[in-house]
Amino acid sequence: MSFSNLGLSPKVLSAVTAAGFETPTPIQEKAIPVAVTGRDVLGIAQTGTGKTASFALPMLTRLERGRARARMPRSLILEPTRELAAQVAETFEILGKDHKLTVALLIGGVSYDDQDRKLDRGADVVIATPGRLLDHFERGKLLLNGIEILVVDESDRMLDMGFIPDIERICKLLPFTRQTLFFSATMPPEIQRLADNFLHTPERIEVSPPATAATTIVQRLKKAPDDPAGKRQALRELMREVDVKNAIIFCNRKKDVGVLFRSLQRHGFSVGALHGDMDQRQRMATLDAFRNGTIAFLAASDVAARGLDIPDVSHIFNYDVPIHPEDYIHRIGRTGRAGREGFAAMLVTPKDIKALKAIERMLHQEISWIDGALTQEEMVEGERYERGNGRRRRGGRSRDQKRPSGQNGQHAARSGSPDAHKPAGHAVPPKARDERRNDPKRDQHKHHVKPSHGGHGAADRPKAQPQAPRQKQRGMGDHVPAFMMRPVRVP
Ligand code: ADP
Ligand code: MG
Repeated sequence: MSFSNLGLSPKVLSAVTAAGFETPTPIQEKAIPVAVTGRDVLGIAQTGTGKTASFALPMLTRLERGRARARMPRSLILEPTRELAAQVAETFEILGKDHKLTVALLIGGVSYDDQDRKLDRGADVVIATPGRLLDHFERGKLLLNGIEILVVDESDRMLDMGFIPDIERICKLLPFTRQTLFFSATMPPEIQRLADNFLHTPERIEVSPPATAATTIVQRLKKAPDDPAGKRQALRELMREVDVKNAIIFCNRKKDVGVLFRSLQRHGFSVGALHGDMDQRQRMATLDAFRNGTIAFLAASDVAARGLDIPDVSHIFNYDVPIHPEDYIHRIGRTGRAGREGFAAMLVTPKDIKALKAIERMLHQEISWIDGALTQEEMVEGERYERGNGRRRRGGRSRDQKRPSGQNGQHAARSGSPDAHKPAGHAVPPKARDERRNDPKRDQHKHHVKPSHGGHGAADRPKAQPQAPRQKQRGMGDHVPAFMMRPVRVP
C-alpha cells in the first residue's frame, strides 16, 4: 500500500515524500480515503500510530480549494494540551510546506497578541486547546461559523482533563454542515456519547483493540521499597542499564517530578523535567533539548504522556505505577514506535499491587519481573501498612485528591477518572481554564491488596524476551477469604 492510492492531492503527496513517510500506517490507510471525501470519521488507534497525519493529510487536500477570511478560520483542530497542539502545528508546517496556508496556534501560557494577529489576517487552520479557543471566541476575536472541518484529537485525554463540556460548547458554535473527525486511543463511554452527538453517520475506523500495548515493547517490573530514597536508588539502577539511549521517567505527582529531577541531577544524570506547572517557554525548551539529545532523561508527569512526538525514546521508566490503567498504555506508548523495539520498566512497591493487577488485567497478560517478584509477605505487609496509615499516606495523595470547592457533582462518570471541574456551560474565567488542566483531580484510590500468584521468577536482563506465559494459579489464587485480610498485630 502506498500513499498515492488514498485520494490525496499531488501537492500533499510530494510533502509526504519529503517528510520521509513511505507507507501509510493502518489508521492512515483506512481513515484518509474516507476523510478526503468529506465524510465524518471516528478513528481509534493506539498512541504512536500516526493519527496526526490521518487527519492532517486529507485536511490539506481539502483546504487547497478556497481561502481564509479575516477572523473566520476554515478548520479547527482541538488538542488537550499545549504540547500536543504545538506538535500538530509542527506537523502542519512540515506536511503543508507547499500550501501557503496560515496556521494559528491558540494555546494558553503565551500572550494573546500574536494569536490575535494571526486570526485577524485569516487562518486556514486553527490548532487550539479548548480553553484558549473559547477565550478568543468570547473576546470576539474569532468567528466559528466558517469552520468546514473540525478535528477532536486525543479525545480520551480531553475526557481526563475535564474538557468535554468545553468541546460540547464548541461543537454547538460550529456550522452543522461541517466535517467532523474524531481521534482517540481508547473509546470510553463518554467519548462514544460525544461522538454519537456530534458526528454525522461517521465511518468508525478501529485499527487495534483499545487498550493494547504495541507488541514491540518489552515490559518489565522491578521491585522497589516504599521509601523515596530507596525507590530513587532502584530507579538509578534501571537507568544505568547499558542500552539506555534516552528515556522518559513518569511520576504520578508533579511534586515528585521536581524532587526526582533534582535528585537525578545531583547524581550526575543529564535530565530535564516536564510538568503542567511550567510555563510554555520552559516546556518547549525542555522538549527541544530532549528531542535533540542535549538531555537524555526527562522526568515527566502524565500531562506529557499522550501523543508527544518524540520519535525514538529507547526506554520508559515508570517511577510510579499509574493509578489509571489506561495511563500505563499511554506512557509506554512513547517507546517502541514505528516498529522499533522499545523497553518499558516500572518500579513496583508492595502498595502498588492492586494498581499493577489492574494494568495486567487490561493488558490480558502478566508482566515479568526483572529480578524477582515481590514476595507474598511483602504484599501482605504493604496491605497492612495501607490499612494502618490510610489517612496519612505518604505523598499527600488524599489532599491532592480533594475536590475543588464549588464542585456540584458534574464530575466524570467513568470510575476512577478525574472530575470535570465545572458545571456544564458555566463561564470560567480564562485563567481558571488554563489552570484547570494542570490539576486533574483523581478519585480516591484505595489500595486493597489481594495476595495472588507470586509472579515470575524473571528475566534477569531487560532484553527482548518473549512474555512469560501466564502462570498457573497457586494456592488460593485471586480469591482470599476475608478473615485472612484482617490486619494482624505484629509483636
Ligand atoms: P499518534 O497521534 O497516533 O499518537 P503521531 O501522529 O504523533 O501518533 O505519530 C507518531 C510518529 O509516527 C510521529 O513521529 C510521526 O512523524 C510518525 N509517522 C506517522 N506516520 C508515519 C508514516 N506513515 N511513516 C513513518 N512515520 C510516520
Ligand atoms: Mg496524536
